[in-house]
Amino acid sequence: MDFRTYLRNHPDTNGFFGDYGGAYLPDELKEPFAEITEAYLTICHSAQFINELRRIRREFQGRPTPVYHCERLSRKLGTCQIYLKREDLNHTGAHKLNHCMGEGLLAKYMGKKKLIAETGAGQHGVALATAAAFFGMECDIYMGEVDIAKQAPNVTRMKILGANVIPVSRGLKTLKEAVDAAFEAYLNDYKNCIYCIGSALGPHPFPMMVRDFQFVLGKEAREQFLEMTGFFPEAVCACVGGGSNSIGMFTPFLNDPVELIGVEPLGRGTRLGEHAASMMYGDNGVMHGFMSKMLKDANGGPAPVYSIASGLDYPSVGPEHAYLHDSERVKYVAVTDEETIDAFFKLSQCEGIIPALESAHAVAYAMKYARQHKSGAILVNLSGRGDKDVDYVVEHYGYGEKYRFQN
Ligand SMILES: *Cc1c(COP(=O)(O)O)cnc(C)c1O
Repeated sequence: MDFRTYLRNHPDTNGFFGDYGGAYLPDELKEPFAEITEAYLTICHSAQFINELRRIRREFQGRPTPVYHCERLSRKLGTCQIYLKREDLNHTGAHKLNHCMGEGLLAKYMGKKKLIAETGAGQHGVALATAAAFFGMECDIYMGEVDIAKQAPNVTRMKILGANVIPVSRGLKTLKEAVDAAFEAYLNDYKNCIYCIGSALGPHPFPMMVRDFQFVLGKEAREQFLEMTGFFPEAVCACVGGGSNSIGMFTPFLNDPVELIGVEPLGRGTRLGEHAASMMYGDNGVMHGFMSKMLKDANGGPAPVYSIASGLDYPSVGPEHAYLHDSERVKYVAVTDEETIDAFFKLSQCEGIIPALESAHAVAYAMKYARQHKSGAILVNLSGRGDKDVDYVVEHYGYGEKYRFQN
């Protein structure tokens, strides 16, 4: 499989990856989404757009981010080698800016004046507010009142960047209601604004568009790793929430002799409500405008989910992942909160890198992998930095004495 042919043929023209994906939209939203698809397929492949995005990545985002060999951590675990793709060094501290800058640039070329989105933990809101400031656009971020109270630092960052944070007070006042409010606002003003989804999910064209904007991180990682070592890694892994950092990491390796592993959050255990491992425990279903694997409640609606990493607690997963799962090209595994915290402290202790709790899931799996393999290498996408998580971690786990290596 050549990844260029793969990219050209997946999704199909209706936005399907096999059975998954599509655009399950109310009639009145079909036209605005079709307009975005049309614009994406023409504008984003023009030389002018590509050159401008390249310059933004280099001069504003600080790309390329490096690949780093964790020599000390690897030695503690055995003889297999762990490498990190350092997306935590991307501007704003995570991979999300990769697709937000792409979406913002597309909005500029489409003549839009405003970016609209919802946010749960606030990470997507901050990345999009950053893009809006860069492009001189307005930015409306819909956020549940409960989340606003929980995520004060991100709310502050969005406001400093000039975004309007619009509290959503209906229902449970969290992400789901924020999604509904943002869709309504978009519908009322779609001539002037663009809706920016925060992961490789939602109705077509977003799973494709976000993947293509995240492709850069995997492409860089592949070239950097080959240059450093002369070989492919035996395995590549990344955490899977909605699936944007992982799809960007996996796609450039699809045609290589490399095992690809998506790491889901197993939270406090396998009971429904205690985790957010949508791929491993979900069934096929449609929510938020696309078909994929989803965790369902007794009525077939989205189930309540939980993860210690707020960026991973989503009851579904991007449709391309469901397709890569069924075609057995990518393997999906899950790690618990406890394993995640262990990896969070051990990576900090051994390498001087404090990972985001989301990314620590991928590190936790890589540590297991390294213990089980005598040779070879595993390349991990370190999707973000942990500054946002340190207060929570210290409050619940102290300074992690019991998680440290003892010798
Ligand atoms: C949002 C986020 C994730 C999860 O989102 P994906 O779309 O699955 O990549 C992972 N890591 C970090 C640091 C995040 O902010």
